[in-house]
Amino acid sequence: MTGRIPLIVANWKTNKKVAEVYDFLQEIQGKLPDPKRVRVGIAAQDIYLHEMVKQSQELDIPVAVISENLHWADEGSYTGETSPAALADIGVSGSIVGHYERRKMFKETNGSVGLKVTAALRNELIPIVAIAEDTTRYNPDDEDMAPLTEIAVGLAGVDKQRAENIVVAYEPAWAIGASETPSLEVIEHSARVIRQSLAILFTQEVADKIRIQYGGSVTPENSKEILGLADIDGLLIGRASLEPAAFLQMVNDA
Ligand code: PGA
Repeated sequence: MTGRIPLIVANWKTNKKVAEVYDFLQEIQGKLPDPKRVRVGIAAQDIYLHEMVKQSQELDIPVAVISENLHWADEGSYTGETSPAALADIGVSGSIVGHYERRKMFKETNGSVGLKVTAALRNELIPIVAIAEDTTRYNPDDEDMAPLTEIAVGLAGVDKQRAENIVVAYEPAWAIGASETPSLEVIEHSARVIRQSLAILFTQEVADKIRIQYGGSVTPENSKEILGLADIDGLLIGRASLEPAAFLQMVNDA
């Protein structure tokens, strides 16, 4: 084994009302796996995060509360943005950075992703860096790293000392919100190439500590086999994470 503890993260996106957030937390209370074996996180809209941190402490739920985005500056005049310092201050553990939906709809670039990753690390938030390059653009037999520019550009400025705290979420654009995942072979190959890229960017030792998640149409039916792949150390789950029963099944199967 690699020593990398799997990290399973729910990505609720722009879903749920406050009563549903409370209900979900109550439903999972006492039912999550031992965090020494599997770590669990929930990414939700910013307005719920403070209450989620408080509730999870009160109910003793071993869950990391995660934001779906963050700003790169710790404070200042950036109307409408949420600063990483404020997220850390309320007890948030990490942030998704550069999700495909943000890149596509809100014009996030590898440049802004890089700034946000650095901002997260500076504030001791775990950045879950989503990369969405389309695997159909390359052939599993081809060791060419060209498709992984998102990693190279997005993480180029990151300090090697802190890089092991990064999580990379490999989410092929076409598999998000869809009904299909890439084949296990393609997921495994992509994760290996991502780890090779991380080793080039940082060192092999650092790359071996970085967790790589898979995301895109994960369900209770496919979660276990995907997690069983070499180099896959977690899942980023959208739709199937909205129902507590399905989410509990996937985290307990991990
Ligand atoms: P999905 O979303 O599981 O609904 O495909 C995954 C994601 O966008 O993180």
